[in-house]
Amino acid sequence: MSQISKMSAQKLNFYYGNFKALDAINLDFNENQVTALIGPSGCGKSTFLRCLNRMNDLIPGTRVEGSLTLDDGQLYDPKVDVVELRRRVGMVFQKPNPFPKTIFENVAYGLRVNGIHDQNLIAERVEVSLKGAALWDEVKDRINESALGLSGGQQQRLCIARAMAVEPEVLLMDEPCSALDPIATQKIEELIFELKKNFTIIIVTHSMQQAARVSDVTAFFYMGKLIETDKTETLFTRPKNKQTEDYITGRFG
Ligand code: ADP
Repeated sequence: MSQISKMSAQKLNFYYGNFKALDAINLDFNENQVTALIGPSGCGKSTFLRCLNRMNDLIPGTRVEGSLTLDDGQLYDPKVDVVELRRRVGMVFQKPNPFPKTIFENVAYGLRVNGIHDQNLIAERVEVSLKGAALWDEVKDRINESALGLSGGQQQRLCIARAMAVEPEVLLMDEPCSALDPIATQKIEELIFELKKNFTIIIVTHSMQQAARVSDVTAFFYMGKLIETDKTETLFTRPKNKQTEDYITGRFG
């Protein structure tokens, strides 16, 4: 297992106006690993995830303190090109959100936005991305049909293909299975296992079972603080902190 740190938060604070939603978070994300962020609703998981590709910039009145790095670069350096940052750090959301376009165009979109116009290259990348998202076989004969005709699980895999098409390095997933049935969920979980060979993956999940199944490292958040982080197996079997233990044993949450 590689131990190269791809992203790192040091003493990260985050504010919505005067409300401090994240308090002194220190957390490293290693390459080719899946890190799960868990904790009760409102503990700051999504806020933290959205810091990692500066999605929070879009919310007025928010403020960040501390250090957040991708490789050696500071994410919140004013010189950072946020569009390029979001290409490197892709995101998949809770509800599948395909564009009302064809399956092909959904995946090709990000390539065109990033200035790629070579039709052969686009077609090739679309196919590779759909294969990478384990969707190609199901859609190859209907690639020019609307993406909205796909099932929820297929739509979510399409969104993963769309995120992958621009060749990101990190993939952020915000409860990617919460709108899916158990079979579609299993497919996404199997896909996450494959994807980590090529990407650094950070997933917010409300399901401890899912965290236990898909992640290498788990970070437990509570009321804006990172309480404990460890190898997933260790965190779920021998937590060091009482609050972690109470949460994973279902005493609150
Ligand atoms: P989680 O993902 O763990 O459920 P969130 O990151 O969504 O938690 O929320 C953390 C805290 O920040 C909560 O108290 C929530 O009410 C608050 N919060 C989230 N989004 C906003 C926002 N846009 N404006 C103000 N407060 C917010």
